[in-house]
Amino acid sequence: LAHAKQQERPLFFYEEKNHQDLSDEWMEMSLRKALQNKEMDVYYQPQVKTHSGEVHKVEALVRWQHPDYGVISPGVFIDAAERFGLIMPLTLQVVEKVCLQLKEWRKTAASIQRVSINLSPLHFEFVDANCQITDLVHRHGIPPEMIEWELTETSMVENLQQMAGQLLELEKEGFSIALDDFGAGVSSLTRLQELPIHTLKLDKHFMNKFPGSDKKQQVIQLMITFAELSGMEIVCEGVETKEQLDALRKMNAGFIQGYIFQHPVPASELKYSFTEGRDMTL
Ligand code: C2E
Ligand code: MG
Ligand code: MG
Ligand code: MG
Repeated sequence: LAHAKQQERPLFFYEEKNHQDLSDEWMEMSLRKALQNKEMDVYYQPQVKTHSGEVHKVEALVRWQHPDYGVISPGVFIDAAERFGLIMPLTLQVVEKVCLQLKEWRKTAASIQRVSINLSPLHFEFVDANCQITDLVHRHGIPPEMIEWELTETSMVENLQQMAGQLLELEKEGFSIALDDFGAGVSSLTRLQELPIHTLKLDKHFMNKFPGSDKKQQVIQLMITFAELSGMEIVCEGVETKEQLDALRKMNAGFIQGYIFQHPVPASELKYSFTEGRDMTL
């Protein structure tokens, strides 16, 4: 019976438009329950140093461990959490989980120096959101230097002035800031240089048909050079093939995050190094 239940997913999963109301109701109720019962779990994906294969940084990616339906991806529920006013409690649960994991890693895996955590564009619309995440990190005794906040370009479009102020606050606390999905939106490069951004995460769409044509390679080389000249680290996302990895190595891309090394996994399955010949020569 348990098995049968697992396969029977709510209509929401099929994104059928005419069931939107029903699934919205189901989703809101289930999400509230999930947050109450702390069903949100965090997976980690390594950001591998391109030349050495070492892992000092990882990204935290939320997963909903649903008691009946198993692991649910954020693509299915983040948007709903935002619409139902549940994104802040969700963020706080993720931050809390990451802090506990960092405590563990500080004891057992000295190589992990930093975890990046995704923030919703809505985060910056709550006046006390930054205080809440900062307090939580302090309460756990985690040095802010061990956390990087990832935000997307869409967060920045609306109110750059106010955004800049909030980012400076986080920077002053000692956190780093990453710009996620860079190149997918509309940032102007000069405006970018005015913000305290420490890491650029090159959007995975750049990996489509890459290496491919010279043009394709030149654009990516330009992004890598731009990051370097602006004093930012660069993480190339969505790297899946050996050809892509080799091309990015030649271009001196700093960090690689992608299935070629490891999918997001529970902390216990995370690999801390890809330096053994077997992994580096994939
Ligand atoms: P993101 O922050 O851009 O995260 C990268 C996504 O790309 C992850 O999907 C990851 O599993 C996937 N990915 C990694 N390597 C590869 C690859 O080689 N190829 C391909 N095709 N994909 C790859 P995931 O975990 O499903 O997360 C999707 C999005 O959900 C994230 O995109 C992020 O925007 C959002 N998200 C995840 N966790 C959180 C969270 O805790 N809070 C908030 N607000 N959003 C989150
Ligand atoms: Mg991210
Ligand atoms: Mg991304
Ligand atoms: Mg994203």
